[in-house]
Amino acid sequence: MVRKQFTDEVIEEMVKRMDSQSPPHHFEFQDPFWILITTIMSHRTKDAVTDAAARKLFEKYNDCRGLAEAKYEDVLQIIDKVGFKTVKASRVIDTARLILEKYDGHVPQTLESLTTIKGVGRKTANVVLADGFHIPSIAVDTHVLRISNRLGWAHSDNPDKTEMELRTLIPEKLWLGLNPMMVEFGKKICRPVGPKCTECSISEFCDFYKKNKK
Ligand code: SF4
Repeated sequence: MVRKQFTDEVIEEMVKRMDSQSPPHHFEFQDPFWILITTIMSHRTKDAVTDAAARKLFEKYNDCRGLAEAKYEDVLQIIDKVGFKTVKASRVIDTARLILEKYDGHVPQTLESLTTIKGVGRKTANVVLADGFHIPSIAVDTHVLRISNRLGWAHSDNPDKTEMELRTLIPEKLWLGLNPMMVEFGKKICRPVGPKCTECSISEFCDFYKKNKK
């Protein structure tokens, strides 16, 4: 019989330790529409910049209809410090228009519908489902991908395949909050270059650490 490397108890313990070593950052909004808009803007942008831009958009436009009717130049000015601002200014307006026209202003609650929105992939859709609707989902971004493969939780450089591996391995009760927690852990401890393995609270479980420790 093949021995399971990570039992549910071990995974739960790992998640608990990561969480206490690097508590997650949560974006400011709880409303699914603003979580979607914030997540669209967050790619390649610092959290503080994304938060500030989302807050300004919300203060000016308030809801989906308001943003759908916004002028491109105004939005561009508001999200001035966000990375890829020209693409994202168009994208947030287009997203608001589509949700207004197709879904009567309500963000859809399924992965299939969310991923039909231009620029919304599985990662963004899973963030919206988890954070906006509290539907158990695992968003695999660059941090989750890297950490999962270093740990031995997953064995693929493809985010979609890694998501499927994680969905099989990790007990569903741990899915909510997993992404923001691992993102912080990836920024502070399991960094892309120079992971802080000697400070890491889960090194005893980590394949990468076991292979590379001297
Ligand atoms: S031991 Fe090192 S590689 Fe493994 S999870 Fe911790 S920081 Fe990352």
